[in-house]
Amino acid sequence: MLTAEQEAIRELARDFTDSEIVPHAAAWDRAGSFDRGVLARLGELGFLGMLVPERYGGLELDVPTYLVALEELARGDAALALTVAIQNGPVPAILLAHGSEAQKSRWLPDLASGAKIAGFALSEAQAGSDPAAMTTTAAGDAGGWTLHGAKRWVTNGASADLMLVFARTGEDDRGKPATGAFLVDTASPGYHAGRREKTMGLRASETVSVELDAVEAGGDRLIGDPGHGLRQALEALDLGRLGIGAQAVGIARAALEHAVRYAHDRRQFGRAIASFGGVRSKLATMAARVAAARALVMEGARAWEALEGARVRNARDGVSAPVSGDVTGSGQLPVTARSAMAKLVASETATWAAEEAVRIFGGYGFMREYPVEKLMRDAKGTEIYEGTSEILRLVIGRSLKPREAAVGTP
Ligand SMILES: Cc1cc2nc3c(=O)[nH]c(=O)nc-3n(C[C@H](O)[C@H](O)[C@H](O)COP(=O)(O)OP(=O)(O)OC[C@H]3O[C@@H](n4cnc5c(N)ncnc54)[C@H](O)[C@@H]3O)c2cc1C
Repeated sequence: MLTAEQEAIRELARDFTDSEIVPHAAAWDRAGSFDRGVLARLGELGFLGMLVPERYGGLELDVPTYLVALEELARGDAALALTVAIQNGPVPAILLAHGSEAQKSRWLPDLASGAKIAGFALSEAQAGSDPAAMTTTAAGDAGGWTLHGAKRWVTNGASADLMLVFARTGEDDRGKPATGAFLVDTASPGYHAGRREKTMGLRASETVSVELDAVEAGGDRLIGDPGHGLRQALEALDLGRLGIGAQAVGIARAALEHAVRYAHDRRQFGRAIASFGGVRSKLATMAARVAAARALVMEGARAWEALEGARVRNARDGVSAPVSGDVTGSGQLPVTARSAMAKLVASETATWAAEEAVRIFGGYGFMREYPVEKLMRDAKGTEIYEGTSEILRLVIGRSLKPREAAVGTP
């Protein structure tokens, strides 16, 4: 059941998707880029600052409502939705949770309006699933920092205006690598976007390497503690993964909707193929799995909201202890595990549902002028970025404890 606000946002997102995304998605995929104007229009509607508080120019929605909108946009084009997910998710979340008031007032309004498009540069050639192995460095202090290194597979690495770059700042008191999160202008001298990757799917999304050759970032570009960047990134991935979960549900739903329409139109043996038990059963399972994936994403979103609420209360009451992921204290799975579950199930559902749609389309499913092969290519990406399925299983597995330990009840 959606709230009245969620219904209203969904309608806005649905109309936008049907009129401004669906008619262009195939052409964007062929061209390898979407028109930047569509981002400007998304910004005008508030869709680039859905979680940003109103005082910074955002819509100040809660996470479940944001994900309702993101699913709709992803149903139209997952490549565009990936940019929307990054713009709404990890970058503003880190600023809001760890940025100074000056940083929030300076950057959040431009992110929310789309005046500045942001990226998130964590992965490196030898540090993907294991970002702690990153070798990019930031040398300096409160007066300013100099960044050296290279990032890999950065979404919008060339066209973003602002890049959140994670870099090693030294070692912490236990001799472990310390990491900082830096807001870098992509126009800075020494910021070089490299070759654009040729990707299997999400072809309209720009995936590039980025080289940082003595890039200067002022002291005001470090967000929070110079030793807490990785922690901030992993915390933000809890939200990011819910966004990718919603993106995957959008792809799975598009597969289902195309398959239902086609199965009612296509006739074989004198009947619509939807009347055959084998096809109807596929459609039924697709519908059930899409609904199950969405429910898991929404449950993760509600858990994230509860965790955020606890963090905000702690900040207000001056409690410095970090808030455990298990906000209920009742032995429920922590938020990190819930968000990992949501992304795992939704992304694997998207891949599976897109493949079923290709089967239902028969020979046409294999043809590029029909929409379902693109969904199959796009879905695969959701199983990789912001945590591969194997890593998500590790995260979930780690949270499962015997009942007497009072954590990890699914
Ligand atoms: C389209 C696209 C967009 C992306 N956008 C961004 C972006 O904007 N910013 C960014 O920072 N990164 C981005 N990435 C990078 C992405 O996050 C990484 O590709 C991902 O985290 C996996 O890292 P890797 O490719 O190095 O694989 P690896 O970590 O090398 O993994 C290779 C294989 O080993 C498995 N594996 C690794 N460790 C374990 C383990 N402990 N147990 C079991 N299996 C394991 C993995 O699951 C995988 O199957 C993007 C990637 C893609 C494809």
